[in-house]
Amino acid sequence: MSIDDLEAEVDKLLDEMDALQEKCDTLPQCEKDDGCATCEINKQIEALEEKIETLENKIEALMGEEEEDED
Ligand SMILES: [Zn+2]
Repeated sequence: MSIDDLEAEVDKLLDEMDALQEKCDTLPQCEKDDGCATCEINKQIEALEEKIETLENKIEALMGEEEEDED
C-alpha cells in the first residue's frame, strides 16, 4: 500500500469517526460526564482511533524510508 492509499484510508476513518462523535453527542447518556464510558458508539470510536493510529504508524515508517537519502 502506498502512502497516498494509507492517507486516503485515514481520511475515510476520520470522517467515520466524526459522524460517530456527532451521534454520540446526541445520546442522552452521553450528556453525563462519564456517560461515554459505557456508550456503544464510544467503543466504536475507540476502535477507529486504534485503526487510525496503526495506519499513521505505517505512513510514518514509509515516509522514514523515503527520506532516508535526504538529511
Ligand atoms: Zn457517548
